[in-house]
Amino acid sequence: MSADTQSQTLTDGFHLIIDALQLNGLNTIYGVPGIPITDFGRLAQAAGMRVISFRHEQHAGHAAAIAGYLTQKPGICLTVSAPGFLNGLTALANATTNCFPMILISGSSEREIVDLQQGDYEEMDQLAIAKPHCKAAFRVLHAEDIGVGIARAIRAAVSGRPGGVYLDLPAKLFGQTMDAEAGRKTLIKVVDAAPRQIPAPDSVARALDLLKNAKRPLIILGKGAAYAQADADIRAFVEKTGIPYLPMSMAKGLLPDTHPQSASAARSVVLKDADVVMLIGARLNWLLSHGKGKTWGERGTQQFIQVDIAPTEMDSNVAIAAPVVGDIGSCVSALLAGMGSAWPAAPSAWIGGINERKEKAIAKMSAQLLSNSLPMNFHNALGSLKTIIKQRPDAILVNEGANTLDFARSIIDMYQPRKRLDVGTWGVMGIGMGYAIAAAIETGKPVLAVEGDSAFGFSGMEVETICRYNLPVCVVVFNNNGIYRGTDVNPTGGTDVATTVFVKNARYDKMMEAFGGVGVQATTPDELSRAVNEAMDSGRPTLINAVIDEKAGTESGRIGNLNPQSVVKKA
Ligand code: ADP
Ligand code: MG
Repeated sequence: MSADTQSQTLTDGFHLIIDALQLNGLNTIYGVPGIPITDFGRLAQAAGMRVISFRHEQHAGHAAAIAGYLTQKPGICLTVSAPGFLNGLTALANATTNCFPMILISGSSEREIVDLQQGDYEEMDQLAIAKPHCKAAFRVLHAEDIGVGIARAIRAAVSGRPGGVYLDLPAKLFGQTMDAEAGRKTLIKVVDAAPRQIPAPDSVARALDLLKNAKRPLIILGKGAAYAQADADIRAFVEKTGIPYLPMSMAKGLLPDTHPQSASAARSVVLKDADVVMLIGARLNWLLSHGKGKTWGERGTQQFIQVDIAPTEMDSNVAIAAPVVGDIGSCVSALLAGMGSAWPAAPSAWIGGINERKEKAIAKMSAQLLSNSLPMNFHNALGSLKTIIKQRPDAILVNEGANTLDFARSIIDMYQPRKRLDVGTWGVMGIGMGYAIAAAIETGKPVLAVEGDSAFGFSGMEVETICRYNLPVCVVVFNNNGIYRGTDVNPTGGTDVATTVFVKNARYDKMMEAFGGVGVQATTPDELSRAVNEAMDSGRPTLINAVIDEKAGTESGRIGNLNPQSVVKKA
């Protein structure tokens, strides 16, 4: 056999991994090249995969996670060993916490050396470190097991409650060769990766019974509901019940925020006064004050229905009177079917009271949004962006910060499902550019990233990535010179500035210009909206430095209560 024909009949680890991913419709990789996966990235690109190289693994990981959320297919993040792996691990843990499906694939050092702790290049027992931070973790040592490894990773990521999966690939695996035909036979095309989970009929009947007899019912939609892509049925269900609903932040737009049943503008009242609360793909975690305390009615006076794919989520914070366990698509369609044709109208006194509260709150807010006060504050700057999203409802809004997050969440109405991507369950900073990049790549839609100046700093270097791939991303940095605000002073009077203060009057717009994108400084709501509209029309990478009053902003935004403050006065 000539060397040539022999090479045609062989395959290796590199190619088997690529083939296994492609066989399962996974055609995009977010990563950072380096040892031992540099050639893997090259070969994947050569094989027709989209390989997006980032400047830091955390942002590649966040990109993969949000790609998973948007597509229901696991997003793939590829990193080098030890430090690169650890950088990606933050995103893997965040994805798992948020129930986003992703697979972190990291190259690793040789087992023999790592296990004897003989000091290999970037030696680290990555599998052991990854395990507590993800839903499942696997290592593949032999080329013939690559198909199984990828199949298991896909199933673990997307079935049941979605989450992050770690796949450890030691350097030696990539170069292992085997007969190409035999290798092909080891690959697995995963059938029905996220099987439907049909709820038990009696659980559906129990839930409907409770809901039907409620005097002050409330529905809360969470990002699990948005993830499920059962948009039409969810809307039909909410509308057929006539019950007021609250969207959690990433569920905004599942029904348009302007929907008459939206109770967002009366949030505090409905949480306190509802007698029956139905959670659909939302957890009673800290974002809902754990279902108890002063946000809610007196303990035991409110009953909960929870629709969720994870049976163990039930009773995690308060008693769940009617658990409905299954995938949201199946659950909501069973609920709709079970309602029959004679569903009672929602109690009018309850609805009337909510509507009154809503109108007052909305009127008060509108006045603030139109104010022309300068320098801009969060309200009039966000007033401009609210109008832009109204005119461009299919744009994707990425949002992080403290005050920038809180205000944007309540001010900017969303009109379509899965268009709002934000800090999620952890309230984590640093998701901004990773989410924006993946949103542009996965959907092809224009992206508007609304970022606090502090939040932007965590992933700011990825503006180079945005320019390199020429993505239709418009970043607006709400620049108030610091964390929370820019006015803190060093209590000692020393030369160092206060811990929360940044360089005054920084020009973040110049960062985008440095890489060939468009940079704009905006000091008025008009300038801001002109610049955003131009960016969205042109599709060119743009960064707008929106100058916000440095006195605007409160400590930790709306979660200041979580930030312990010392009451001890030093003598
Ligand atoms: P939010 O932050 O919007 O309140 P959470 O992330 O707290 O949302 O809750 C999402 C919930 O949705 C999780 O408990 C998760 O198990 C559930 N979930 C995710 N995907 C599905 C699905 N396809 N079907 C049913 N439940 C789902
Ligand atoms: Mg700030």
